[in-house]
Amino acid sequence: MSDNVQKYIRREQFKDINSRIADKFVKAGLEKIRSCISCGTCSGGCPSGRRTAYRTRSAIRRALIGDEDVLKDIDIWFCSTCYTCYERCPRNIPVTDMIIKLRNIAVEEGYILDPHIVLTDLFWNTGHGVPATGDSLKQWRDLRESLGLPALPPTVHSYPEALKECQELMIATGFKAMMDRIKEKKAKEKAAAEKAAKEKGGTAEMDKIKEKIAKEKAETEKASKEKAETDKAAKEKKEAEKASKEKPVAEKAIKEKVGGKKKK
Ligand code: SF4
Ligand code: SF4
Repeated sequence: MSDNVQKYIRREQFKDINSRIADKFVKAGLEKIRSCISCGTCSGGCPSGRRTAYRTRSAIRRALIGDEDVLKDIDIWFCSTCYTCYERCPRNIPVTDMIIKLRNIAVEEGYILDPHIVLTDLFWNTGHGVPATGDSLKQWRDLRESLGLPALPPTVHSYPEALKECQELMIATGFKAMMDRIKEKKAKEKAAAEKAAKEKGGTAEMDKIKEKIAKEKAETEKASKEKAETDKAAKEKKEAEKASKEKPVAEKAIKEKVGGKKKK
């Protein structure tokens, strides 16, 4: 906005707006994100948004203005990719693809949930994100057999030799390297967090000891003050008692002296 226009439009410009995330959408062929009019139709029909804090329109908007925090937001993982928003968007924006892309960008930048890391390990080791071979899935395999299907689908489960091909694809696409990098980063972050917590724990322990010493010092001071007051009171009492004992003797002596003078 030119200075001349700025003179008349008394509105602060939001300085943090940037197109870093939007540019990644454009690069991926999803430039339609820029035609979003923020109408909220996507949020209105979103089944995930009815049960969670996830708001589709907000995620798109934040991506558009370059709000980096949207990548760290757990909400973007609540989309169930049901495609309702995609069908309803008045600007014909492939909203679901936008959310998937947003997740891709988040993962590329290291923002991934721990359960997803477990999933990628399973994918690497078995060729499946959710392997069908576990005991808990026997019911599912029985169901397949009851329908006349082989217990396991014609995937890596049936062709274990294909696992090598899957792994080669993961290496060729950079997926493996990316996951290794993310895992390394997460391990470093975890170690740093544990170290910080330990140090904080140590500081907290020192604070506790200092607090205990200060408390004991205050109690000792209070006790010695009370003792001094008690001693003073006892001394005063003793002196008062002594004085009250001496008083009658002195009075008697004076009386006798005065009586003796009169007789003379
Ligand atoms: S429905 Fe389409 S235009 Fe409306 S806010 Fe959602 S993405 Fe934007
Ligand atoms: S695809 Fe995702 S964002 Fe769109 S309506 Fe379904 S759950 Fe909501």
